[in-house]
Amino acid sequence: MKLLVTGGAGYVGSVCATVLLERGHDVVIIDDLSTGNADGVPEGAQFLEGDVATLATEVLGTDSAAPRFDGVLHFAAQSLVGESVEAPDKYWQGNVVTTLTLLEAIRRSGTPRLVFSSTAATYGEPDHSPITEADPTRPTNPYGATKLAIDHAISSYAVAYDLAAMSLRYFNVAGAYKGAGENRVVETHLIPLVLQVALGQREKISIFGTDWPTSDGTAIRDYIHVLDLAEAHLLALEAAQPGRHEIYNLGSGAGFSVREVISACERVTGLPIAAENAPRRAGDPAILVASSDRAIAELGWQPKHTDLDAIVADAWAFLQDLGDRSHAARR
Ligand code: UDP
Repeated sequence: MKLLVTGGAGYVGSVCATVLLERGHDVVIIDDLSTGNADGVPEGAQFLEGDVATLATEVLGTDSAAPRFDGVLHFAAQSLVGESVEAPDKYWQGNVVTTLTLLEAIRRSGTPRLVFSSTAATYGEPDHSPITEADPTRPTNPYGATKLAIDHAISSYAVAYDLAAMSLRYFNVAGAYKGAGENRVVETHLIPLVLQVALGQREKISIFGTDWPTSDGTAIRDYIHVLDLAEAHLLALEAAQPGRHEIYNLGSGAGFSVREVISACERVTGLPIAAENAPRRAGDPAILVASSDRAIAELGWQPKHTDLDAIVADAWAFLQDLGDRSHAARR
């Protein structure tokens, strides 16, 4: 298929683009490099740098009788819970307004398929665990609210304009694949931050909340390997049906507390990791664990890299390699 990938220089987008290229798809990436890296763009993809909505509108064109692309995978987004509480404008404009423009471009160009990066944050504080797609959506932060608003918009576009649409609700994506991993200018995610402590780049990790209603008092998340996530995108693309918008949760199905993640990082690196207790972070729910039963049953998806130590080991290898590369570049 000929595919337009927005955000393909970012972490998840670049791994998915790599896998799409490996399977013989033709990939055009649009990214404004606000959080992604040009280095992340996989070889073999055509890369256009600039505003996602503007470029997508140009690239998709307006001839619905002869669509130029078979589908769009829309990864480009603002995606930090804490930041979204402090700067919601960036999220409503950057996520919702951009995606509404993209949806119009998809409609006008007659592009048949859309796979959208949604999130577990659409559910908010769940009543029970694991979370299924039928559970109530009550986001506890603007990030989740913007992604949920987009999911609603996609649903109505799918029905009215015969779009074949899929929203994939990611839980906590981690790990690395073929030189693509978490490499953000401003890092806020747990696993890379803990590994930065191991690398000596950071003095200690702050544990945000030690009074959550969990076994060790720290928040529980479901860590999914980025390669498993990429596989789900390929399956979703194939399974999408005109006029339907399907939503799938994607996680490994097991929850790990912040302290358990720190222990896994200590095991993998063989290094002690200094940690301090800190207040809860605004917008964070206590526990987010996915039921991915629907994706397993309907898409034929099967997460393969579910061992937390193996996920951390891939992230660790990526960060060490990145350090070696930047050291070599400085010399
Ligand atoms: N977390 C933490 N210290 C940090 C970063 C994150 O304790 O420096 C916690 C965070 O509060 C959450 C979990 O680790 O409970 C995962 O956070 P992350 O930002 O990686 O992903 P999110 O769940 O927000 O998508």
